[in-house]
Amino acid sequence: MSLERWVRPCIYGMSGYVPGEQPAAGQRVVKLNTNENPHAVPPVVLEALAVALNEGLRLYPPPDAAPVREAAARAFGVDARGVVAGNGSDDLLTMIMRACVDPGETVAAPDPTYTLYPTLTRMQGGNYQAVPWLEDGGLPVAALAETGAKVIFVTRPNAPTGHAVPLAQVAALCRTAPGVVVLDEAYGEFADDHGLPLLAEHPNLIVTRSFSKSRSLAGLRIGLGFMSPALAEQLHKVRDSYNLDRLAQVAAVAVLEHLPAFQFAIETVKAERIRTTLSLTARGFRVAPSQANFVLAQIPAGPLSGAEWVALLKERGILVRHFPADPRLADKLRITIGTAAEMSALLAAVDWIQGQAG
Ligand SMILES: *Cc1c(COP(=O)(O)O)cnc(C)c1O
Repeated sequence: MSLERWVRPCIYGMSGYVPGEQPAAGQRVVKLNTNENPHAVPPVVLEALAVALNEGLRLYPPPDAAPVREAAARAFGVDARGVVAGNGSDDLLTMIMRACVDPGETVAAPDPTYTLYPTLTRMQGGNYQAVPWLEDGGLPVAALAETGAKVIFVTRPNAPTGHAVPLAQVAALCRTAPGVVVLDEAYGEFADDHGLPLLAEHPNLIVTRSFSKSRSLAGLRIGLGFMSPALAEQLHKVRDSYNLDRLAQVAAVAVLEHLPAFQFAIETVKAERIRTTLSLTARGFRVAPSQANFVLAQIPAGPLSGAEWVALLKERGILVRHFPADPRLADKLRITIGTAAEMSALLAAVDWIQGQAG
């Protein structure tokens, strides 16, 4: 086999991104490992999808997702020419890399953060610089800018820590960064504030949003990017021709026209996040304050390792996420905020495990 000669060295030499486990259809688990929304899609979105199905899927969708971009412009009070739609927000991250990063160039992000960024960088033949968060969780503005990166990713709220850096620090980074700053707001709707207002002053800023978390549509793959119209024009050149399928476009428009229909589910997740934080803390976990739809919980001192906690919870039918390769995260579990019943099941499993171990 000549695979090694057929494939670009940067691809051959890298390991692919590993998403959290997706159980087989019909398997009954409490799924708290990939930050999906436990709440149902509002009926108004499902009705729009049913109409689209009846109208047939024979024709290509609008190539640039114009109806979605226009609905987003109305919903968020921005210029539709500065909105780009993605097949999930990951698709937008890929477009940004294609448009901005040549082989050998640098991409940077505070660390730890979303582990897709280094994978995307390697695909581009770029070099990835992980810059540790400041001691207080702040954004290492100067150190990030000094990397000279063409693209700097800032996840806000961050995964897997759940913390949201002050927007003033993001603005400072935009002013000093030599390249593009991507504010990844995949969890933005669960936070106290967000970065869209910064766009007016910072032409090198791109804000991305996902419909996978707060909008309960991880299965449809929809994301939005907000930026200057000039930058959007460049991203459109590197987009797959029809990157958002017809059903995704119909659902996205319905979502954007009915944003208040999601607010109750978002508030429910935020309330459950507080209860989960308090309940895990009472059981000896150390839980960092989170502005996202998950918490990062350090396991209690005791005989069980992080990997053992994950395995024991899985035996009880509960999936959580663990990042054993990173020594700073090996003793922590990232737990998605599910429904009240799901979080009660988690807490009951924790009690059972602690009862056995104690
Ligand atoms: C989930 C997630 C994404 C990807 O979202 P999709 O819209 O499903 O592609 C992007 N960034 C971060 C930080 C995420 O956690």
